[in-house]
Amino acid sequence: CGIYGVIGVKDAANFVALGLHALQHRGQEAGGIVAYDHETGFNSARRFGYVRDHFTKKSLMETLPGDNALGHVRYSTAGAKGNTAIRDVQPFFGEFSLGGCAIAHNGNLTNADSLRKELINRGSIFQSSSDSECIIHLMARSIHKNHTNRIKDALSRVEGAFAVIAMTRTKLIGVRDPRGVRPLVLGQIGDGYVLSSETCALDIIGAQLVREIEPGEMIVIGPEGIESSFPFERVSPRPCIFEKVYFSRPDSILGGQSVYETRRQIGIELAKESPADVDLICPVPDSGTPAAIGFSHESGIPYGMGIIRNSYMGRTFIEPSEQIRNMGVRLKLNVNRALIEGKRVILVDDSVVRGTTSLKIKEMILDAGAKEVHFRIASPPTMWPCFYGVDTPDREQLLAATMTEEQMREHMGVASLKFISINGLYRACGVKSGRNATSPEYCDACFSGEYPVEPRDQIAKGFEM
Ligand code: 5GP
Ligand code: SF4
Ligand code: MG
Repeated sequence: CGIYGVIGVKDAANFVALGLHALQHRGQEAGGIVAYDHETGFNSARRFGYVRDHFTKKSLMETLPGDNALGHVRYSTAGAKGNTAIRDVQPFFGEFSLGGCAIAHNGNLTNADSLRKELINRGSIFQSSSDSECIIHLMARSIHKNHTNRIKDALSRVEGAFAVIAMTRTKLIGVRDPRGVRPLVLGQIGDGYVLSSETCALDIIGAQLVREIEPGEMIVIGPEGIESSFPFERVSPRPCIFEKVYFSRPDSILGGQSVYETRRQIGIELAKESPADVDLICPVPDSGTPAAIGFSHESGIPYGMGIIRNSYMGRTFIEPSEQIRNMGVRLKLNVNRALIEGKRVILVDDSVVRGTTSLKIKEMILDAGAKEVHFRIASPPTMWPCFYGVDTPDREQLLAATMTEEQMREHMGVASLKFISINGLYRACGVKSGRNATSPEYCDACFSGEYPVEPRDQIAKGFEM
């Protein structure tokens, strides 16, 4: 998901709409905005679909007046995959004796099931099926007299991954979980401030990046300025490495590094690790593009757009059902026959999940007359589900969890299939010595199976680590 908050800017909701539009790649199912205005109080709107289809309409935006606003774009993960109800769309809102508070959450709480049971038993009335709603109910039960401390209380009870933005009548509050699994940045625009999942959404409104919120940090932006604190027990940071591989936009800066440059470096590492004698390097657009550029640069083999993407389709994986996902590849990608014909080709993609994309693309490329097809993948084999806010299927559906690399190559029917090594990936992500096996610098559980936070709810449901 993507989260975005603005404080101290006239007609803040319009800026939030733009920010959410820039974060649309993080969630395309639905979006919501809550705005606060001194005269009319808190107002909100939630809609299914793209931000640009709703939050550009004057009639809707006029219902969201005020200098402070908070928004969220949603894609459903572990909880309610693919059947989002409008009541699941964030931000969530709670009216407390001390005034209202809206909350937007990116990530996934790993103890939400047990928390929800406990809260319901004690009288909480849940409105949605979302794990994030627990935060509001925990806040409601806190005995503290101000929102900031109530948020601290609430977030001390939850486990897992959370980047949270909260908005009260006078404050915008940003918090990252102790490991900083999901990203959050602070920006400035005039006298106002912005909190955003990614820096690309600062650029769109002309805001300047101030800095990243640190893992475990809470920042409170209010009339007295900005206060920073670290309310949780300190642990080693483990930001999500898959943000760098795929999830974040390439024009964002993440952990002080350009995401584009990281991906290009992944391609360079891949070319060093797994070269092949071919005529052409092609990305699987768009997610494989920077890595393909790096691969071509390192190998000296020409780069070409052998696959053309129809930009009017969303990301295939966000389509919830298998049937639509299967069609999706063909709806979205087409082969550039004139370039491919008669050539030996390396295709570079970011990841193999179920293997549907790669299989279809290989067929399309061979149909178009390629002589040989090789795959190079910009991440290690995806062998484990993510329980921290990225939608990966169960293990049975993960190709790499059920097959060896050689079996996958055979299954795909390609001349060669190589994944970047975990150390190569870490090097590309700025850890020159490679992954520290005893204390890894990133979360890489979907590749390593080493979960930095115990997936408590999943284990209760029978998941075996
Ligand atoms: P596959 O077709 O192998 O299931 O999906 C791989 C493609 O889906 C990749 O090209 C990648 O761009 C995209 N993808 C990236 N991340 C994810 C993810 O977390 N889950 C899923 N299902 N697909 C992803
Ligand atoms: Fe990111 Fe993978 Fe960790 Fe999920 S399991 S947070 S996708 S690195
Ligand atoms: Mg892709």
